Amino acid sequence: MADRKAEHDPRARDRQLVPFVETRAFECRWIEGPGGAEARCCGAPTDGGSWCRFHREIVFERRIR
Ligand SMILES: [Zn+2]
Repeated sequence: MADRKAEHDPRARDRQLVPFVETRAFECRWIEGPGGAEARCCGAPTDGGSWCRFHREIVFERRIR
């Protein structure tokens, strides 16, 4: 059973961002701040997609509109 308490909290701003080039297969690729070579991603674990649950909802919401 997954530990829900360890789940990524997008409101916690003290977490480490991951450089875009270092994101792995199941890490959130949501880019925080400006893009480009210095782009940094959320890096939170996903459940198989490209984004964590929080950012995936944002992405899908934008696509619907
Ligand atoms: Zn994310």
